Amino acid sequence: MRAEIIAIGTELTTGAKLDTNSQWLSVELSAIGIPVHFHTTLADDLDANIAAFRIASERADLVLISGGLGPTLDDLTREALARMLGVELVLHEPSLAEIKAMFTRRNRDMPERNVIQAMFPSGAIPIQNRRGTAPGLWLEVNRANRPACLFAAMPGVPSEMKPMFREDVLPKLAGAGTSRVIRNARIHCFGLGESAAEELLGDVTARGRDPEVGITVHEATITLRIVSEAPSVEEAQGKIAATREVIQQRLGEYVFGEEEDEIEHVVIRQLLQRGQTLATCEDATAGQLASRLTHAAGSVGCYRGGLVAVPEESLGAMLGIDSTAIGGSVPHGAERAGATRNRFHADYSLAVTPRSRPGDRETDTDAPIAHIALAWAGGVDVREVNLAGDPTIATARLTKGALNLLRLYLRGDSA
Ligand code: AMP
Ligand code: MG
Repeated sequence: MRAEIIAIGTELTTGAKLDTNSQWLSVELSAIGIPVHFHTTLADDLDANIAAFRIASERADLVLISGGLGPTLDDLTREALARMLGVELVLHEPSLAEIKAMFTRRNRDMPERNVIQAMFPSGAIPIQNRRGTAPGLWLEVNRANRPACLFAAMPGVPSEMKPMFREDVLPKLAGAGTSRVIRNARIHCFGLGESAAEELLGDVTARGRDPEVGITVHEATITLRIVSEAPSVEEAQGKIAATREVIQQRLGEYVFGEEEDEIEHVVIRQLLQRGQTLATCEDATAGQLASRLTHAAGSVGCYRGGLVAVPEESLGAMLGIDSTAIGGSVPHGAERAGATRNRFHADYSLAVTPRSRPGDRETDTDAPIAHIALAWAGGVDVREVNLAGDPTIATARLTKGALNLLRLYLRGDSA
């Protein structure tokens, strides 16, 4: 069985609203082992709807529709379904009584145009809407030499669609796709590009592999998504575990976490485990480093605080260092990291500085460079980060790069 999800509304095709219903329904169907092969989004246009329903009834075995069940002229789902089937719309008295009752409870008279919401294509089964006026409907489209294609049409309003799906549609699907279950897992990596990751992974991301592994990248974090399909939950999870092992072997220390993990969560867990503390100093990342650390659970137990400043002088004054001085053998960021560590009495400090020491050679053609520095009791490590590339993610890359430097240090240092 394969499913198609159709979202209807001109507000969706124009981009005024985001179609979140299709995503939600796909996740629901995955959970019961029904693979979704198509998402279709349609404007409020009768001919387009009829054509799309016809196509769906051929290429899918289950079609979930949301939207177009309201009382207004642009709500065309009922009529398009009737036209596709070549049947009339007929009044369903119990549904009309429900809709009238709904208005009565709100102390209002039912406008005449709401009668249309109680009209269904002949042969369809109405689905009561306990939260709004638009009933849904269920129907089966007979096909030559194969089982009927199942259609469920639900209101577009997410707070009405979701309970209707769970309470009324889902029970009808019991047994339809449950012979197989689908489970997902996400593994996150940092420090290498998408193509480099793909190269190291080799056949892991090959199409048709079982389970399938897809790569996505968001703000320099690479995520591997494992989709595992099997007859039982245990088997699906077993295949995920084996693939996770292979990914871990091939990507090694680039892998930092799973599921909801961000690098700061990992760093905080490492620090808490050792009973150690961290402070930060940043003028290249606009407080993102402090913000990420502060928002992560457990940070009160290990994050001592941070300095966020733009002018060189104010930062220098706070740290008691002359950061405008030209020359000298200590790299810019190293000095700051060391001073920050002392100032906050922390075990470690991370400093992010946007450029080389003032006065150092820097021309317009140079790629933008930042430094990240990690200081600990025994020394300091300074890395240069080349920020050429997408400028909208430069801050995130730099922030994560700093956190990752500490993660790797703590990983390698078994103190
Ligand atoms: P309708 O059932 O077409 O009258 O939709 C009613 C309202 O539900 C719309 O105005 C949207 O705000 C919302 N809506 C409809 N379809 C979707 C969708 N696919 N995702 C999220 N919201 C939707
Ligand atoms: Mg609509």
